[in-house]
Amino acid sequence: MADTNPTVPRSATISGSDLLQWRRELLREGGSSAELDWLLDTGAGLSWQQQQALRLDPHSTTEIRQSLSQLTELWQRYRQQQQPLQYLVGRCRWREFELSVGPGVLIPRPETELLVDVACQLMADRPTGSQLWADLGCGSGCLALGLAAAFPHSRGFAVENDPQALRIAARNLQRAAGQIQLLGGSWWSPLIPWAGHLDLVVSNPPYIPTATLEHLDPIVRDHEPRAALDGGADGLDSFRALLQGIDTLAPGGWLVVEHMQGQASTLAQLFASAGLETLEHHQDIEGNDRFLAGRARTVR
Ligand code: GLN
Repeated sequence: MADTNPTVPRSATISGSDLLQWRRELLREGGSSAELDWLLDTGAGLSWQQQQALRLDPHSTTEIRQSLSQLTELWQRYRQQQQPLQYLVGRCRWREFELSVGPGVLIPRPETELLVDVACQLMADRPTGSQLWADLGCGSGCLALGLAAAFPHSRGFAVENDPQALRIAARNLQRAAGQIQLLGGSWWSPLIPWAGHLDLVVSNPPYIPTATLEHLDPIVRDHEPRAALDGGADGLDSFRALLQGIDTLAPGGWLVVEHMQGQASTLAQLFASAGLETLEHHQDIEGNDRFLAGRARTVR
């Protein structure tokens, strides 16, 4: 049944009344209309404004990227098997980007968008054009793309150890190939040639304590890569590994990480014991400490 194969999207023409009837039928069995809007928008290329226009004029028609029967199949797999819609569609919006995503990478989260804004604040006093940065454990490559756009004259590295994630990152980073180099390897290891020259290093490493993983929403727990979530017994293993490489930073260079709610003070102690200075906590939109920045000593 080629028509229902999600990997071969088939465009289709639909009318406003087709759309209304389809929505009604699907939502009768539950699910949220916001998620259905997301599926129409990211999956079928039908923006919310276009959906509104169709609803207001049920006789009007428009072209969509995937047929309604293909979208129904994706929706049912999401509802019945709890597969993330982003994996089913293969795409996800994050900041100004539309990214490829699949089971090999963590689905970029809205809160992680803020890490780019934190980096902008930290780098505000540096002359533009001189920055060299890296994203360690880049997953889909979202943070690297965010930094490249935020610092248009900079150069950066996206580092990833997992072969499946590397393939997805390569697809996403193609559009910034002149500015971002994708490197395979664990944390700082591929960056040895640039030791002492990195002005900014960011990471959203796995930070969930192993025992907590079992209590996550099944849509996350059963589908997103464990290696991107599992931070070991206390959730801090990857931070300990990251802190072993801070000599790779330039003097005065920043390390900025995302962490779980409740980890801020223990993590600050780890940062301080490793020799990082000028520690700064930054918050998510709910006001929780979720990001920590620390600066390498200017004189070693
Ligand atoms: N924020 C992710 C979640 O809520 C976890 C990401 C991570 O471990 N880096 O599932």
